[in-house]
Amino acid sequence: MSIDYQSLAVKGVQALSPYQPGKPIDELARELGLDPDSIIKLASNENPLGPSPKVLAAVQKTLGELCRYPDGNGFELKQALSARYGVVPSQITLGNGSNDVLEVIARCFADPACEVVFSQYAFAIYALVTQAIGATGVSVPAKEYGHDLNAMAEAVTDRTKLVFVANPNNPTGTVHGGEAIEAFLARIPAHVLVVLDEAYCEYLQGMGYVDGVSLLERFPNLIVTRTFSKAWGLASLRVGYSISSPEIANILNRVRQPFNVDSLALTAATAVLSDESYLQRSRQVNTEGMKQLESAFEQMGLNYIPSAGNFIAVDVGDWANDVNRLLLDQGVIVRPVGGYGMPGHLRVSIGLPEENDRFIESLARALDSLAAAESGKGA
Ligand SMILES: *Cc1c(COP(=O)(O)O)cnc(C)c1O
Repeated sequence: MSIDYQSLAVKGVQALSPYQPGKPIDELARELGLDPDSIIKLASNENPLGPSPKVLAAVQKTLGELCRYPDGNGFELKQALSARYGVVPSQITLGNGSNDVLEVIARCFADPACEVVFSQYAFAIYALVTQAIGATGVSVPAKEYGHDLNAMAEAVTDRTKLVFVANPNNPTGTVHGGEAIEAFLARIPAHVLVVLDEAYCEYLQGMGYVDGVSLLERFPNLIVTRTFSKAWGLASLRVGYSISSPEIANILNRVRQPFNVDSLALTAATAVLSDESYLQRSRQVNTEGMKQLESAFEQMGLNYIPSAGNFIAVDVGDWANDVNRLLLDQGVIVRPVGGYGMPGHLRVSIGLPEENDRFIESLARALDSLAAAESGKGA
């Protein structure tokens, strides 16, 4: 007798669709028979600079230790993070990417009887981990693509245990200033945990932004999560972390895998924290690239969502799928966000100046050829 294993999976998992990552360069190269070097990927908000030289040197030095388990407490990295952000090591929980931390938080605090609040168009992982646990996800309608913090506060019920806020948000790039975040936190009951996901905080400059860590003392129910995958340029090494009260960190520590961050990731993250010039360059390349894309979109008459991250969502309307296909044919990978309920937008990560140019030219070509096909049909 054959067994329906699907029906054996826990309920939330049965209905789960897996996370859709950006298409890897090698995959497109295989599909189209292209040279991988001719392809540009602006699909996963990766740092276009490549890793910091300090990271390469540090990783090289660690290779001889690969037979050993990593430091499960991440002593050095926690020291470096503590010094940089003015917290104590016992407030830090390390993860295999911040994705891991988000999942550990959900597993520690959410259960099938509870509700988890997040915004429409928010980072997909919130809904995914909520559903995997069997908790009820409450998706609050967005306001101009951003989190409607008032509506989110109002969505908190007796059953709510967790609220996810992405600031800036992915895939929209929308951001709230410190005052709005503080006012929001003040409205959330102390027994409801708020996760402030600051994956892109390193890109924020000015804008009345207050970092979540400075709010921890006033709001002990707050957990701030961050990552080395974006501005710090370590997406492949998988390291992220949360900063919270030591009490909450202690709980997270019970559930996380004891060796969830490998030794290369620990070494690399520690090394890059001391490379301030890498961070400066990352910001600068991003600021300039953002301007480059915005002005190109304006010239093409395309709407976009102003973004505080290292990516931008541009509205190409009903053609988004066709535009995406035509971009892929030209060796340019961006991210369709139909899965986020934004079928007319494409999310484009900010690349190096020449990558941005290549994307802009490819986009113009794609739109021209679709317009030509359309008018041909009409004639
Ligand atoms: C990229 C991203 C993350 C996490 O990335 P990791 O590589 O798992 O650290 C978390 N939150 C948001 C909003 C992101 O865009």
